[in-house]
Amino acid sequence: MTRCPECDAEIDLDEDEVEEGEILSCAECDAELEVTQTHPVHLIVISDDEDEEEEEDEEDSEEESSAEEEEEPEEAE
Ligand SMILES: [Zn+2]
Repeated sequence: MTRCPECDAEIDLDEDEVEEGEILSCAECDAELEVTQTHPVHLIVISDDEDEEEEEDEEDSEEESSAEEEEEPEEAE
């Protein structure tokens, strides 16, 4: 008997009827499970929320655009 790795519920499947890479869903906890191995069947939980911890170093290089064109006052004399 295969069990859900998430909630440990029994999952009724025939290991002759599943294929590696097949996606199942647990009837108990609704988790998505991928068959990573058959004979015996091994399931992993596919977490749908991607919790990739990315440390983003956002360097806000504030480029102060000194677009102030200093026009030289023409001293017309
Ligand atoms: Zn489950």
